[in-house]
Amino acid sequence: MQTTFTPERLAESPSLQSVDDILRKCVHCGFCLTTCPTYLITHNELDSPRGRIWLIRDMFQEDTIHAETTFHLDRCTTCEACVTACPAGVEYDRLIDIARAHTNVHRQNKNMELLVWFLTAKWALRIGLLAGRAAQIALPGQQQGLIQSLLPRRLAHLVELLPHTVHTPSALTERSQLLLPYAFQDADATADAATEPAIAGKEKRLAESPSTSANSRGRNRDNQDNRDNRDDAIRGHVLLHTGCVQRQMWPQMNDAAATLLARTGYAVNIDASLECCGALAHHAGVETKAAAHRASCIDRVMNAVDGIGIRKVITASAGCGTHMKRYGTQVTESPADNEEGAEFVAAIVEDVTAFLKPEDLPVIPERRAVAQTIVLAYQSPCSLQHGQGIVDQPLALLKHAGFAVVELPEKKICCGSAGVYNITQPELAADLRARKLAAIDSVTPDAVASANVGCLVQLDRGGKQTPGTGDAPPIAHVVEWLNWACGGDVPQTARTLPQFHQSAGHLLNT
Ligand code: SF4
Ligand code: SF4
Repeated sequence: MQTTFTPERLAESPSLQSVDDILRKCVHCGFCLTTCPTYLITHNELDSPRGRIWLIRDMFQEDTIHAETTFHLDRCTTCEACVTACPAGVEYDRLIDIARAHTNVHRQNKNMELLVWFLTAKWALRIGLLAGRAAQIALPGQQQGLIQSLLPRRLAHLVELLPHTVHTPSALTERSQLLLPYAFQDADATADAATEPAIAGKEKRLAESPSTSANSRGRNRDNQDNRDNRDDAIRGHVLLHTGCVQRQMWPQMNDAAATLLARTGYAVNIDASLECCGALAHHAGVETKAAAHRASCIDRVMNAVDGIGIRKVITASAGCGTHMKRYGTQVTESPADNEEGAEFVAAIVEDVTAFLKPEDLPVIPERRAVAQTIVLAYQSPCSLQHGQGIVDQPLALLKHAGFAVVELPEKKICCGSAGVYNITQPELAADLRARKLAAIDSVTPDAVASANVGCLVQLDRGGKQTPGTGDAPPIAHVVEWLNWACGGDVPQTARTLPQFHQSAGHLLNT
């Protein structure tokens, strides 16, 4: 694509130089159009990657922000399917980031800042969830609809996404603690692994804060020797990033990730103050908030690296992992930014589905036999497949556990969750959700597996609210399915699945 920036303008702004470099790579081939979810819905070229690239070029060249430009840029899900599809290597992801930051500085969007604060502030979201759930229980359906129609548009769509269950904060992953590998909890752990009391007992006995552990080492030499032997034998210490929204909306995914890692021999460190990674704020273009979250996360991770010697940060939420892996490219000139720390953290973050290998999983044979009767559709989150290039690994893990895994048609197309997209662009998000639910319906699975909190919430609520479709199959995180196959609880959302009730109860931990 041709551009007309003067050398003087480019010399003044490194980000404008990046914009120019990216724009010049686009050859207008249009290969990206059919993977773009918004183009598939609207058939409007301005809602396609190629159209948005034109708009961004004009915005920077003319140094003017037209309402039409922000309208179509706001409608981009940032799913990055176009980046995967582009044969010319156009970094649309970087381009839209720079363009969004530019338009948001000029708009001073206070509503977006408030929305990001609400979603990432632990107690604000919790109180909101409890209030919303109380209203759902107390009011008949008609009154709920009336009240919802009186709410501001974005708040009404946030209410639509409320889970039917308000989860109590997790006892396992909500507070700071060290979760030891199961093999060190009890010598006969492997022999007992298929029995509910043994597993349930172990899960309750795992708590031990790192600071308590350090004190006891100082006090007792025998304990010190035992611990040294133990530390030599564990596979390694990992830090589990438990995030923000997932703690409130889907805490069972963190619990399952923690126990699954412990089952595979890792010591799992949980730091309750390692919270929002900044992905939501970044998606919404609220860069000051994103930078603050990034700085806090880098600080907490470096603290664990220095204090415990962790070498990996594991996340179960694909969106968080994608964002943290890019910390190194997000540093600004803000004094809060730590360039060296950002690059270090970005290099040690890994999604749990890529970190674990099939041969690591201690799958219980009786559970594999049950899993073989469950047709599981895998919904590949955009942030995992396009953002991190993780496509086959979750499938391999699920297949190794025995599940009859099926892939979805249009598997590269976004489900409409996309950070805060399903709140800020509810109509398009609803269309994309319906399209994804139809794709799921077409393969008639018993249940669905995904790997990102946003997709889980979007499809779980969506299935129950799309007129005429009835209840969608239950959906749970990949690690919830794997953890069950290795001896953990049945995924909460899938307890009604007949396969679990046709099998011996002691194998299921329902
Ligand atoms: S596929 Fe790449 S080069 Fe082709 S139009 Fe899309 S962004 Fe441009
Ligand atoms: S990021 Fe996704 S929604 Fe945005 S232009 Fe690319 S394919 Fe379309």
